[in-house]
Amino acid sequence: MKRIYLDYAATTPTHPEVVKAMLPYFTDDFGNPSSIYSYGQEAKSVIDEARIQVTKLIGARDKEIVFTSGGTEADNFAIKGIAFANENKRDHVITSSIEHHAVIEACKFLEKRGFSVTYLPVDENGLVDPGDVKKAITNKTILISVMHANNEVGTIEPIVEIGKIAKEAGIYFHTDAVQTVGHIPVDVNELGVDLLSMSAHKLYGPKGIGALYIRKGAKLASFIHGGEQERRWRAGTENVPGIVGLGRAAKLARQEMIEEMERLTSLRDKLIKGILERIDHAHLNGHPSRRLPNNVNVSVDFVEGESMTLNLDLEGICASTGSACSSSSLEPSHVLLAMGLSHEQAHGSLRLTIGKWTTVEEIEKILDVLPRVVSKLRAMSPLVKSTR
Ligand code: PLP
Repeated sequence: MKRIYLDYAATTPTHPEVVKAMLPYFTDDFGNPSSIYSYGQEAKSVIDEARIQVTKLIGARDKEIVFTSGGTEADNFAIKGIAFANENKRDHVITSSIEHHAVIEACKFLEKRGFSVTYLPVDENGLVDPGDVKKAITNKTILISVMHANNEVGTIEPIVEIGKIAKEAGIYFHTDAVQTVGHIPVDVNELGVDLLSMSAHKLYGPKGIGALYIRKGAKLASFIHGGEQERRWRAGTENVPGIVGLGRAAKLARQEMIEEMERLTSLRDKLIKGILERIDHAHLNGHPSRRLPNNVNVSVDFVEGESMTLNLDLEGICASTGSACSSSSLEPSHVLLAMGLSHEQAHGSLRLTIGKWTTVEEIEKILDVLPRVVSKLRAMSPLVKSTR
């Protein structure tokens, strides 16, 4: 059975061109970029080249990019780096209640170290209100961290507005752009951010590599101590094949993004419309228009998300209930709860995220299979008999 992959927000397949670009750096061109002989210098120059590709994708300068092991590390680096470099002066951080665990757990860690953190609420569509950001600022605030787009419901946050507030108040502003870089236009200057996290495996690059954008002049504590790599921000021998992969993925994204956004938006809207028409008591989660082009998230009353994903898997369809990190936990999504959904509605959520290799035939197939799966589960559900 040919499987249909509808979980591009969890991870994307690595683009064949990216794999091809990476391969020589495992074999013939294996040098350590710190070595002064030619093997090393060649590896150093491909890192420089990849860094330029990343800067072009987000409108940064090359000295402003530090390669990390992925989005989680970039988020931790940004948050702890700013907090620890400035802790004797200010000790308050503002974030939102719908951030990825990489941000939330980094903030909780800071709380244990004596920092205070404000977790802003969101509205029913998952939007942070910039007015709330403004109100939360105190003379102790050192950092605001609000994600560019949410990984579960796809809502795109008002980053430009929050950026202006942060700038006026002289507070560092970080955004987790793991779900947006390579998918929608991202420009660090237009967004007004000082720090931005990204991850290669969300944009058809390899896993285990990402980057943090750090605006020139930002004062951060280094994340990993050791050698001189990454201008001492992040020590350790560079992941040369991974960095080359991220660079190539960034280059491809720049070439293909606008066309791909249009194609995915149309497939996404077909999928949303089809689900809402064919399944009664199904509700769209997330903002109807300020939404990632590849994200569909629905709550289906009287069924559990886990049962839907397991039954879809039997039909060869890979989907998820929420973020990949929490989909194996039975806790309802903190994002959906923050948006005001009940525990039952949050448990009935299904996330379908599409991508480069999703076809219209696959959308039609899911629109055929999902209503059947839901009917079958509802026929067995005690919830249906007691509520309908
Ligand atoms: N931030 C967001 C919004 C994400 O969606 C993810 C991955 O799911 C991460 C951070 C973590 O990125 P990585 O898997 O590269 O550590």
